[in-house]
Amino acid sequence: MCSRVACSRDAVATLTYDYGDQMAVLGPLAVTNEPNGYDLCAIHAERLSVPQGWQILRYSVLGERGLGA
Ligand SMILES: [Zn+2]
Repeated sequence: MCSRVACSRDAVATLTYDYGDQMAVLGPLAVTNEPNGYDLCAIHAERLSVPQGWQILRYSVLGERGLGA
């Protein structure tokens, strides 16, 4: 399930934060429970926003294509 409040869609991606490098890493849904990971549905994964100065690193998720391209 998506970890966003009031969202009940199925999660398709896992978001983890790399505070050292100020990066948000969006990757395939984690099989294990990541302590610092947030599971997101497709919509929230696409609308992901990060603090100013941060970068978003996207790995391909479920065959999505053209994100940001
Ligand atoms: Zn969601």
